[in-house]
Amino acid sequence: MSKVLVIGAGGVGSVAVHKMAMNPDIFHEITLASRTLSKCDAIADSVKQRTGVTIRTAQIDADDVAATTALIEEVGPQLVVNLALPYQDLAIMDACLAAGVHYMDTANYEPRDEAHFEYSWQWAYQERFKEAGLMALLGSGFDPGVTSVFATYLKKHYLDRIDTLDILDCNGGDHGQHFATNFNPEINIREVTAPARHWENGEWVTTPALSHKQQFDFEAVGPKNMYLMYHEELESLARHLPEIQRIRFWMTFGDAYLKHLEVLQNVGMTRIDPVIYNGQEIIPLQFLKAVLPEPSTLGSTTKGKTNIGDIATGIARDGSEKTYYIYNICDHEEAYAETGNQAVSYTTGVPAMIGAAMILTGTWTGAGVFNMEQMDPDPFMDMLNRQGLPWQVRELDGPLAF
Ligand code: NDP
Repeated sequence: MSKVLVIGAGGVGSVAVHKMAMNPDIFHEITLASRTLSKCDAIADSVKQRTGVTIRTAQIDADDVAATTALIEEVGPQLVVNLALPYQDLAIMDACLAAGVHYMDTANYEPRDEAHFEYSWQWAYQERFKEAGLMALLGSGFDPGVTSVFATYLKKHYLDRIDTLDILDCNGGDHGQHFATNFNPEINIREVTAPARHWENGEWVTTPALSHKQQFDFEAVGPKNMYLMYHEELESLARHLPEIQRIRFWMTFGDAYLKHLEVLQNVGMTRIDPVIYNGQEIIPLQFLKAVLPEPSTLGSTTKGKTNIGDIATGIARDGSEKTYYIYNICDHEEAYAETGNQAVSYTTGVPAMIGAAMILTGTWTGAGVFNMEQMDPDPFMDMLNRQGLPWQVRELDGPLAF
């Protein structure tokens, strides 16, 4: 009997447990735990209403390793799916090791006091997970996650060698608010305001945040401005697919979003160092999060589609140079109708459920710490098609012109 413990009751956690409940042959018992019990209970009510499945809920502060270990021991899962914030990754990995269960997440560790993320902290757990005979699967969301699996799928079936890889993340959705982020505002703003980095000829090239813009015509969305950014899968792809000469990540932003962000930055509201306000220490970015709309409330008003995918140029089996574009289009309103969450949570929560299914069914096995591109892409890609995130591959006339 398979049991899973999901930690984190935000938009992504909500989608993941709804989709788990829709696959009762794989997920026999589901427990959702988070800092705020009422959020877990509200999700459990929705799961019951939509699927008829009863899930258990629990309160946990996942920064507390001893308490999390005790919860894991009480629930008795084979796998903990961490859908809390990147700050909790190491504490939950420690708790998984202490309790002897597998670990999975969707975002790499980030210290609270530094807007900086990299895999080194989590890769450092390699020996401990290996010795314990346990698997830690990192980054089973869309990006990272599906975009990494897309790359290995192209490598397995279309290109013997990938020379350049561009990941294009477009959210063509409109939530009707002046300014809101589609996932946790604190994490989102830290990511967007960080300097851009891409991998080229064996080294990292750093450029100022949001300084490189290109227009791209996204199917089902239309032409959008996209900006070069750093994103965590670049680091693991550069390590695990070392033949790739250039790896870049692009994300679309509307002019209104960028204008708000610029003003917020200029007035100091995106700072992550403490300031004294009324005799109390506050972090401006955390205060900003408190006044912005909660991403989970945007679902009912968001219209439009996301289009996220990879463009890879390389050498095909016949020796010729080819360029392939592999992508998924997801509709905000359809995602909301199915799970009560918009497409950004949906496109992350569905791959989180699939990654968990890969581990629980023994389809993906291994002892140690793994990134998505180290696994066989085929069973994951099959499930994407069957679980609400169908994808397509197109051959392009040639490499990207920029
Ligand atoms: P939310 O902020 O909506 O939800 C996070 C949840 O984690 C909240 O329920 C929060 O509790 C809970 N939480 C925070 N701290 C703790 C703690 N110490 N102990 C227990 N629970 C805690 O975020 P999202 O659902 O949008 O995102 C979830 C994760 O998914 C994030 O790590 C994000 O970076 C990642 N992500 C990954 C993507 C990908 O494609 N790979 C894309 C989008 C997101 P409370 O409600 O009390 O605040």
